[in-house]
Amino acid sequence: MSKIRNIADFPKPGILFKDITPLLASPRAFHIVLDAIAERFIGEHIDAIVGVEARGFIFGGALAARLNASFVPARKPGKLPAACDEVQYETEYSVATLEMHKGSLAEEARVVVVDDLLATGGTAKAAAELVRKQGGYVVAYAFAVELTFLGGRERLMPVKVESVIQY
Ligand code: AMP
Repeated sequence: MSKIRNIADFPKPGILFKDITPLLASPRAFHIVLDAIAERFIGEHIDAIVGVEARGFIFGGALAARLNASFVPARKPGKLPAACDEVQYETEYSVATLEMHKGSLAEEARVVVVDDLLATGGTAKAAAELVRKQGGYVVAYAFAVELTFLGGRERLMPVKVESVIQY
């Protein structure tokens, strides 16, 4: 899709970064992607969208409004002001942490975890762990872009994975 721009060697040498800002700059393209995700949840009740900082906020917030669901941010450490639950997870180069305000989800809340892009799946899996820590149920994961060759979908199984643009 021409609205996804490839940037070589960002943020580190050897990484081909998929830049979604051209997609966001196009109201039509942004609508198409949001509608494509939202329509996969027609007839399913979703209580909350958990969006992963930072680009997951953009898609997750818009999707929450479309699905009439709450939006709950999963953030990097030290950003959320109140008491948090946290989960640590391994990235390719380091150990990272995600935090979510305690009490963000009702018991057995039906949740969709949203981010801009699925690579190895480690980030989304950590967000799902936060959901489960708070007694929520992960109905699905949703992404604008999926890098299929990295096997993220397999890592997130058996939970349903929705993505719009695959490479
Ligand atoms: P992962 O945990 O490996 O699935 O990585 C997903 C997270 O890293 C998402 O928040 C993405 O925004 C970001 N990310 C990973 N790889 C890329 C890439 N090639 N282009 C853009 N963002 C990426």
